[in-house]
Amino acid sequence: MATLGNPQNTIAILNKYNFTFQKKFGQNFLIDTHVLNKIIASAHISKEDFVLEIGPGIGTMTQYLCEAAREVTAVEIDKNLIPILEQDTLSEYDNVTVINQDILKLDLNQLVMERNDGKPIKVVANLPYYITTPIIMALFEKGIPIENITVMVQKEVAQRMQAGPGSKEYGALSLAVQYYAEPYIVANVPANCFMPRPTVGSAVIQLKRHTTPCVIVKDEKLMFQLIRASFNQRRKTLLNGLNNSAELSFSKEEILAAFEKAGISPTTRGEALTLEEFAKLANSF
Ligand code: SAM
Repeated sequence: MATLGNPQNTIAILNKYNFTFQKKFGQNFLIDTHVLNKIIASAHISKEDFVLEIGPGIGTMTQYLCEAAREVTAVEIDKNLIPILEQDTLSEYDNVTVINQDILKLDLNQLVMERNDGKPIKVVANLPYYITTPIIMALFEKGIPIENITVMVQKEVAQRMQAGPGSKEYGALSLAVQYYAEPYIVANVPANCFMPRPTVGSAVIQLKRHTTPCVIVKDEKLMFQLIRASFNQRRKTLLNGLNNSAELSFSKEEILAAFEKAGISPTTRGEALTLEEFAKLANSF
C-alpha cells in the first residue's frame, strides 16, 4: 500500500492505474503533507469519531482520516477510482467503507443512522468546487446530524461564507451558512498543493454546527426568500428588492408594514442587514 500525500507517490499511483483526470468531477488531488496535517488537526478527529469524506480521489486524505478516526465512509462518484481505493491505497485499513455514488443522491440521514446510531458525525473533504454550495446546503438543510464540516473550497467561496454585513462578499451564502453554523477560515492553500493545479485559489474552512439555533424564525423558507430577494437586486433598496421579487407575492403595503413592525428602514440595502434582522423581518410578515 502506497503512503500518499506527496507528488511522487501520487504520480506513481496515477501511472500504475493509467488514471486520467476528469475535469467534470472537479478533480484536483492534494499532494502536500502540511496541508493534509492541518486539515486533520483542525477537524479535531479522535478515535471516537465517525467521519464522512466526500470525494476521496485516490485516497490521500482518506489515509490520514483512517489513522485518526474510528470509522470513515468515503463517497466517490468516479468509478475509475474505486479499484485504486479498494485494492491499493486503502486496502490495509479495516475502518473504511468506500461508496461509489453521487454524494447529492445518497441518503445521508440513513447512513448516519446505520453507521453512527444517528449521533453527530464530522465531515471532511477537499470538495469538488463545481458543487460546493449544493453539497454544503444539502448537509445542513437535510438536517443530517453533524458536529462540524472541515472542507477545502474555492478561496472566494470561503470568504463569502465567513463574511459579515457591510462587506462586498456578504450575501445569501453568508447568511445561509451562518444560520446553521459558525464559519472559521483555517488556512489559505496555494494552487501548487494540488495535482493538477486549480486555476483558482483555495482555502480550508471549518463550519461548526450551532448546537442551539442562533436566531428564532417562524418560517425559515420565507426568511431565505427574503434574503435571496434582497441580494438578487443588490443595488436596490430592500423595499424595491422585495417588491420586485418573483418569489414573493406581498403587496407594497404589507412589505412596509412588516418593515415598520421589525423596526427596519425600507430604504436600507440587504447587505446592511444582519441575520437577526432578516429573522425579525421574516417574523413580521
Ligand atoms: N480527496 C481527494 C484529494 O484531496 O486528493 C480528491 C479531491 S478532488 C478536489 C474532488 C473529488 O470529488 C474527486 O475525487 C471527484 O471525483 C469527487 N467528486 C466529484 N463530484 C462528486 C459527487 N457528486 N459525489 C461524490 N464525489 C464527487
